[in-house]
Amino acid sequence: MEPSPKELKNFLKILELQCKEYGWKDIKLEGIPWEYYRTTTRKNPLIFAVFGTYKSNCILFLGGVHGDELPTVYVLLKFANHIQDNPDLFKDKCVIIAPLINPDGFFTKPPARVNASGIDLNRNFPTRDWQSSAWKQWERKGTKNKRYYPGKKPGSEQETLFQMALINRFKPQKILTIHSPLGFYDFDGPSSDLYSFERWIDGVSKETKHPWKKFGYFPGSLGNYAGHERNIFTLTLELPSSKPDRGVEYFNKFQPAIIKFFDLQVFGKKPFLQITPESIKRS
Ligand SMILES: [Zn+2]
Repeated sequence: MEPSPKELKNFLKILELQCKEYGWKDIKLEGIPWEYYRTTTRKNPLIFAVFGTYKSNCILFLGGVHGDELPTVYVLLKFANHIQDNPDLFKDKCVIIAPLINPDGFFTKPPARVNASGIDLNRNFPTRDWQSSAWKQWERKGTKNKRYYPGKKPGSEQETLFQMALINRFKPQKILTIHSPLGFYDFDGPSSDLYSFERWIDGVSKETKHPWKKFGYFPGSLGNYAGHERNIFTLTLELPSSKPDRGVEYFNKFQPAIIKFFDLQVFGKKPFLQITPESIKRS
């Protein structure tokens, strides 16, 4: 579809009002190079911004996948502002920020985890095990909890297709996806390298005083689709709560982890991690 400047402007206006309502006074949405090519069921644009000049070694940041995980949206909007204010720090990088994957859920009163069609966007990716297991897991593990409904078909939602399109277009080597309120780091990636990733996360965990856990992945989850099936290092940051007024605190607390994730070197066609003596020392 053709993006419409008017539609984007209206959306940013509504988002700005919502930010104010949550007390996120330091967020500036203007001046960020927002783009969008898709809208949701409720006609909200699915926005993202690209920073830096590099066209390779991209890092993709995803927030607001679950619409009721409010501070995840703050942290990524704040990070976009931080990059905007410090362009020199990021000019030799490639950063893509999609701060609000599920605007329909975010703007629902009260905010909802699922999208407007009642689907959990972290169970809707077309992973190889979706057909055989997504419904089985939902019925068994979630006892058909509506918050985890994977949809009738994999990849049925615009919000899922949006994330797949970002991965396909930018071919990121690393993804940081922010959720709440479970309060730990989790990770997925090429199975050959998970041990190195674990050592790295262990250092970051100590430094930021935030535990890590191998939570595992689900049929239709991003960790499964990107990390397990596509060998993209996928770090999940689960913030300790979903309260909107904790956003500033979380941005400050986890900024070192975000910066370290930038420094984590990934090499090769089939990526592998390079843990340098420097990166061990610093962790
Ligand atoms: Zn979540």
